[in-house]
Amino acid sequence: MNASLGTAVVTGASSGIGAVYAQRLADRGYDLILVARNRDRLNALATKISSASGRAVEVLAADLANPADLATVEAKLREDATISLLVNNAGVGTHTPLLDSKIEAMNKMIDLNVTAPTRLTYAAVPGFVARGKGAVINIASIVAIAPEILNGVYGGSKAYLVAFSQSLKHEVGDKGVQVQAVLPGATATEFWEAGGMSVDMLPKEIVMSAEDLVDAALVGFDRGELITIPPLHAVEHWEAYEAARQAMAPQLSHATPAERYLATA
Ligand code: NAP
Repeated sequence: MNASLGTAVVTGASSGIGAVYAQRLADRGYDLILVARNRDRLNALATKISSASGRAVEVLAADLANPADLATVEAKLREDATISLLVNNAGVGTHTPLLDSKIEAMNKMIDLNVTAPTRLTYAAVPGFVARGKGAVINIASIVAIAPEILNGVYGGSKAYLVAFSQSLKHEVGDKGVQVQAVLPGATATEFWEAGGMSVDMLPKEIVMSAEDLVDAALVGFDRGELITIPPLHAVEHWEAYEAARQAMAPQLSHATPAERYLATA
């Protein structure tokens, strides 16, 4: 058995990408705390992982869109000093157009995709900084860059996670805390059914398995990448995009409006 790397908290661990993270992290030497709503599925996964890897696996059934449940997970992150990795993976999405979507469903999506990872990060990171060691992996999406592809609130929630990760790395990257945002493209999980569309409707050539996605994302993690986009083959597109952002950043605040906005009378 590998030496312990501490405890990893994986949200949305009952299926899909989160369940693969749980397996891979246990294989690497992490003990686990698995979070999702479906306790039976979490228990079954915990038994499977702990008997295969010998790691300690705890189940914390919680609805992360529910403030009381979320507070329980936050308390665990604040109090358990063995926790060294937080994987903010739980999330929902849909392909339904913005204005055809019910505002209450959109609000709930923001609760789960934005508020929960924000609060969990706030609960975990001060301890990581104090101990000079820890990591946060935020599972975003390629729709963070291309919000026209699916529902816009979903895209906005994932763009938030990218911006949050960039800022977090800027603030705590030199304090021993590693930050990574992972941007999966279409991945073969229950995500699609839950969002109202079968994954079988998508062309096979754009759909990755959850196993390939997580294994690639962990290669990026091991390299210390801030942004990891496993399905993007031509990395020069990302590099050009990021270079343009960096070049623009120092020019974005100015006492006078740009000449193109001056009234010409
Ligand atoms: P999934 O198989 O549907 O997994 C979603 C996980 O989130 C499940 O474990 C689910 O478990 C949990 N979850 C849902 N609502 C929850 C709640 N209110 N409280 C706590 N846990 C909740 O889909 P997935 O593809 O693995 O999704 C994982 C992440 O990848 C999501 O953030 C998603 O946005 C992102 N992503 C997916 C794709 C894709 O094409 N699949 C692409 C880009 C990004 P319970 O039902 O047991 O709560």
